[in-house]
Amino acid sequence: MVDRLTPQRRSWLMSRVGRKDTGPEMVVRRLLFREGYRFRLHRKDMPGSPDLVLPRYRVAIFVHGCFWHRHAGCSKATTPKTRMEFWSNKFAQNIARDKANEDQLAERGWRTIVVWECETKEMGELREKLCAELEDAKRTIGEPHAARR
Ligand SMILES: [Zn+2]
Repeated sequence: MVDRLTPQRRSWLMSRVGRKDTGPEMVVRRLLFREGYRFRLHRKDMPGSPDLVLPRYRVAIFVHGCFWHRHAGCSKATTPKTRMEFWSNKFAQNIARDKANEDQLAERGWRTIVVWECETKEMGELREKLCAELEDAKRTIGEPHAARR
């Protein structure tokens, strides 16, 4: 799979190096592993370099920080009171980039699941959410829209 990386994308990907094994992501990895799911990590050849990828289900999972990725309605998605224009531009860019990644993944037949950082504090609910999404992905994997590469 050939991926075209703009310089901006590449530098963003590079900025993520070193922040791989963050707490919330480890929570998601351990949970899925315990549930019997197997996955790949940080597929750099896929849009947005998803944190976890389940090729068999054609599912990409992003574990997002609520602040940076603007979890709607979340108490952690605050806006700093200084340099407000800087922050609102920054947030708008992050949201647009997340959306673009999700769109590109969908074009390739991949489903995107976002796990918010705050959701990793509620293990029971998180397990339910992920298992429901993955079951649904498994059901739809044979459908034509999911079959193309
Ligand atoms: Zn949140």
